Amino acid sequence: PEAITVGDLANRMAERGGDVVKTLMKLGVMATVNQTIDADTAELVISEFGHRMKRVSESDVEDALIQHQDDPEELQKPRPPVVTVMGHVDHGKTSLLDALRTTDVVSGEAGGITQHIGAYQVELSGGDHITFLDTPGHEAFTAMRQRGANVTDIVILVVAADDGIRPQTVEAINHAKVAKAPIIVAINKCDKPGADPNRVRTQLLDHELVAEEMGGDIITVEVSALKGTNLDKLEEMILLQAELLELKANPDRRAEGAVVEAKLEKGRGSVATVLIQHGTLKVGDTFVAGAEWGRVRALIDDKGRNIKEAGPSTPVEVLGIQGTPSAGDDFAVLEDEAKCREIAEYRQRKHREASTSVAARGTLEQMFSQI
Ligand code: GDP
Ligand code: MG
Repeated sequence: PEAITVGDLANRMAERGGDVVKTLMKLGVMATVNQTIDADTAELVISEFGHRMKRVSESDVEDALIQHQDDPEELQKPRPPVVTVMGHVDHGKTSLLDALRTTDVVSGEAGGITQHIGAYQVELSGGDHITFLDTPGHEAFTAMRQRGANVTDIVILVVAADDGIRPQTVEAINHAKVAKAPIIVAINKCDKPGADPNRVRTQLLDHELVAEEMGGDIITVEVSALKGTNLDKLEEMILLQAELLELKANPDRRAEGAVVEAKLEKGRGSVATVLIQHGTLKVGDTFVAGAEWGRVRALIDDKGRNIKEAGPSTPVEVLGIQGTPSAGDDFAVLEDEAKCREIAEYRQRKHREASTSVAARGTLEQMFSQI
């Protein structure tokens, strides 16, 4: 059942709340500005005021936001893989992400200033790029997927060679399977005296993951995040897997992506880290991010540098959002600023309705937009 508060309705018509309450009374409906009325009642009020009503449906919103699907194949260009690190607690996810970060040739040149913005990209000496989601843990992965954001191309499963497969390892395997993301196993802590990589490979068999060494197709790499051993080999395997996936996107279109992280910062306002999935985001673009909208005031990359644009698979901090979206929210550029605002308002209303009990009767699949 969809509805609108009397106050919201008054705002959308640019009428006074008290006048709307009076009009409702005339129609035999007693409601205060904070109360909710159903869509049909609202329609009556709108016509009483002599306004026109336009209804926006969920599918209109989706149509406006999701446009890359229409892109012809020939416009697609190769893009870097997006990688998520998962595994049991203390097996070395954070250590591995930190170690991989140091393999970036660009941040080395820039003096090694790194920002923790929820994702980072490394440029390898050969010129290839890999994007890592810097939010290890299954919650972040699940939260994003629940919001419909399927951003991960490849899962790195970290298993400590001295500890083997543990409950959260199994959980991670299941998450990767549900998301249909290929798994590369990083057998970590191989520097430790008790390390037994082959035991890990044997344990993987119980979960239908057959290592290449055992005649299967699962790539395993023996690493040490602590000593930095075999990180280049792990990256090589990521690139190999990425090649098989034929990851592509069209950079020459309006940007679409997903919010990886968002927060309100003193002096900067709302800041969201967005992973661009299609197109190129530019300073000045107007956009919708979940139930928020904005105009890009500045773009900051993972090395803290101001940039003018960000293409597919690039994580970027976006300044200029009107509110703070949530991790996993969709992000899409739309040329029409009014449309951005309209979609954000529509979604905010939907959120409010979901969180407050709706007193009014009637069901309606559409909602009011411009009046
Ligand atoms: P997470 O919980 O999976 O993020 O694990 P951490 O990265 O926090 O690592 C847990 C502990 O294992 C820390 O004390 C790390 O120093 C240690 N550790 C991580 N990687 C290695 C490794 O390759 N070798 C050794 N010996 N210790 C490691
Ligand atoms: Mg950690």
